[in-house]
Amino acid sequence: MNRPLVLVVEDDKAVRNLITTTLRAHDYRFLAASTGEEAILEASSHNPEMILLDLGLPDMDGVEVIEKIRTWSNMPIIVISARSEDNDKISALDAGADDYLTKPFSVEELLARLRVTQRRLAVMQVATDSVFINGRLRIDYAAGCAYLGQDELHLTPIEYKLLVLLAKNVGKVLTHQLITQKVWGSSWENDVASLRVFMATLRKKLESAPDSPQYIQTHIGVGYRMMKVE
Ligand code: CA
Repeated sequence: MNRPLVLVVEDDKAVRNLITTTLRAHDYRFLAASTGEEAILEASSHNPEMILLDLGLPDMDGVEVIEKIRTWSNMPIIVISARSEDNDKISALDAGADDYLTKPFSVEELLARLRVTQRRLAVMQVATDSVFINGRLRIDYAAGCAYLGQDELHLTPIEYKLLVLLAKNVGKVLTHQLITQKVWGSSWENDVASLRVFMATLRKKLESAPDSPQYIQTHIGVGYRMMKVE
């Protein structure tokens, strides 16, 4: 398999060096940029497999970089934000980022995020329209049914909608706001509370151990993600 090409966008030299050194040591190819403008130029001319994007750039907001790239590409984008930029992280996910890393992060965290994204890329490449398969979970979109192994999951219409939304975005963190908008068409605080309830009932049906979920990961204060299960 070709070594994936990663575009690293970070104006802080120390952080950029940490990332590029890690990438080099783990057999990734990379390009580096330190401004939003350079990032957009490199992304459009080299078409990398994924982007690691710092949100606080000197010339423009990282969210703006995502919006520009999303006008022509679905390439996975992992944003890097400082702890004080929690709202920016959520705006970035809503603008189309796939995942996030919070500074300071460890090399292990960075590598874990890259692996999740690579699995997502693999799924995107084999995705078919009619059936979704992830571990023992199978969703037949045409029939509107979901199965775990041989057993049909008896889901309510909202649970099914939630499951399909997460499955269609497997590997990607979806914010509470995005989920409630897609499922209920609105995003009131009450909807976020109901979302928790529906997620709990969905997990009871889907997960063999709802306390340590295998399929649906919680991102506290942010949202949920369906993990690609081996
Ligand atoms: Ca920065």
